[in-house]
Amino acid sequence: MAKVLLVEDDPSVRSALHRCLSNATYTVRECGTALGALRAVLDEPFDVMLLDLGLPDLDGRDMLVMLRTVSDIPVVVVTARHDEREIVRVLGSGADDYLVKPFSVEHLIARMTAVLRRAGTRGPSADVVTVGGLVVDAARRLASLDDAPLDLTPKEFDLLKFLAWRPGVVVARSELFQQVWLQTYHGERTVDIHLSWLRRKLGESAARPRYLHTIRHVGIKLEAPAPSA
Ligand code: CA
Repeated sequence: MAKVLLVEDDPSVRSALHRCLSNATYTVRECGTALGALRAVLDEPFDVMLLDLGLPDLDGRDMLVMLRTVSDIPVVVVTARHDEREIVRVLGSGADDYLVKPFSVEHLIARMTAVLRRAGTRGPSADVVTVGGLVVDAARRLASLDDAPLDLTPKEFDLLKFLAWRPGVVVARSELFQQVWLQTYHGERTVDIHLSWLRRKLGESAARPRYLHTIRHVGIKLEAPAPSA
């Protein structure tokens, strides 16, 4: 039984879709905002997302771009406009397929089934990443260092995961705040505090870094220590 995250701000459309999908034996979680959907994806695993583009807090396409930095969940976009350029842009932003309103339930189920089938044959996704002695398991939300489990808070885990997925890449604090906290302003101090906690749990400090390196005036990167270190 596939689990669907249904992202739609219109309550009547949402409950109608919920009913149809439940009848088709899907398990459904509803969400009315783009940021709420991003949080939901970080909270629990879903098999597929059904995403309405017209959302109150963020444009669905901007949300897709943010989503793709943290998740490869299959996404079927629902759009009101049969505009070829818009559809090309949406697919380019990371959607797997799209539906133009109005659509029949049969059409919706057929699209979702096809997307799920392709996802099922996509092969193992990068759920587990290893950087040196650090192992981060995104699906089970577990991390370990040199085979010892790390006891991380949810935000510390998300921060570690975000950096571990792009080893060696310097990420600005503002981007970390946007991607991990899903907020857009005044977050550098929050990032610094969580980074210092994370460093402590990794047994290192800003002055004596092993995995987490601060590049002054640029950002943070995570990389494996040199073998001799
Ligand atoms: Ca809408």
